Amino acid sequence: MKRKILIIVFSGLFWALVLMGALYAFSFRLNGQSKVEVLYGDNYKELGYKANIFSINLNKLVKIKSNVDTSKIGTYKIIYELPFKLLVREVEVVDKTSPELNLVGDGVVELNIGSEYQELGAKAVDNVDGDITSNIVIKNNLDMNNLGEYEIVYKVSDSSSNEASVSRTIKVVDKVAPIISLKGSSKVVVKLNEEYVDEGFIATDNVDLDITSKVKVENNIDYSKAGTYYIKYSCYDSSSNYTESFRKIEVIESIDITYIKGILLVNKKYHLPADYNPGVNSEAYNALLNLQNDALSNGYSLPLLSGFRSYETQKYLFNDYASRNGFEKANTFSALPGQSEHQTGLAFDVGRISDDFGNTDAGKWLSKNAHRYGFIIRYLKGKEDITGYKYEPWHIRYVGEVASEIYNAGITLEEYLGVA
Ligand SMILES: [Zn+2]
Repeated sequence: MKRKILIIVFSGLFWALVLMGALYAFSFRLNGQSKVEVLYGDNYKELGYKANIFSINLNKLVKIKSNVDTSKIGTYKIIYELPFKLLVREVEVVDKTSPELNLVGDGVVELNIGSEYQELGAKAVDNVDGDITSNIVIKNNLDMNNLGEYEIVYKVSDSSSNEASVSRTIKVVDKVAPIISLKGSSKVVVKLNEEYVDEGFIATDNVDLDITSKVKVENNIDYSKAGTYYIKYSCYDSSSNYTESFRKIEVIESIDITYIKGILLVNKKYHLPADYNPGVNSEAYNALLNLQNDALSNGYSLPLLSGFRSYETQKYLFNDYASRNGFEKANTFSALPGQSEHQTGLAFDVGRISDDFGNTDAGKWLSKNAHRYGFIIRYLKGKEDITGYKYEPWHIRYVGEVASEIYNAGITLEEYLGVA
């Protein structure tokens, strides 16, 4: 009986030792970390495990359960199972890719001072969240009223707090030229050897404000010589924008010549002296060339038929007309010497010398557009009593910028100058 108990005790001890030895010799562990991170969209590669007892490999007995889905952010578990032991590996699917953030429009934008910046925006696309443009936060310190370079910063973060940022440079610049305003008339007539005293001017700029003191005044007027001269007023603002303005100075020989509002008037009442012989006026001629070019590009040919005519030429012409038509008749369509506008160098006959020229397309174009080049149809239909001449749709007279005012009013030069 005692012996039986001993056997039981010893065999119990024996098996306990065997079990302890087996437990001691048993090993089941994971390869790699028990917590691993996998990037969103990547493949999880099984790192494996080792299970053995003494040197017997038990790997084949291990069952793996996994629900890892790398197309979804989250924490997953992989369970490695032996009948008597479990191991767990935690797999975290993470997103570490920043959103793609791109500017809409240019990275550098130049804008005029005082103008308004219209936000051009940006576009953000994330690998996980998709379009997250609406999450973009825009910051700027833009001051459109001060010259300088400013930055607009666009920032966005995705649901995993990955950030992206871009910036746009706004250059606030001044490209607006200053304005020089002349005091007094921009067309001045002075007699030979009389000097013109400048009536003054003001220069203003959108940024620099009053820059009158920066205006440079230049002229090459020879008051001892009759002719057309210009005083040139010019200046730069602090952003190097340039402007210039001119005052026309007409130095005339004879006091017999009539200028009203700076415009030379010649008709049956106001005459020119025989020695007034300025030749064709270059400003008027250039305006005529522009007019002819534009007419041509609209399909109308307006050839120059007669321009400057000296007193002598007019005398010959008129005498010729008078000998064939009689004085009275001749003077309805031709001027006496000294009374012709052609002697001013400011008048031209163009197109065709014919009463129905005004009804042609070219004549209509001339009538509607001459003012845009500084010309007026000098002898209007129905105004014979005022001008002293019959309707001449081909005769244009250069008067400069007031042409449109005269045209729009539908009046003659005499009416405009108040001598009708
Ligand atoms: Zn004429």
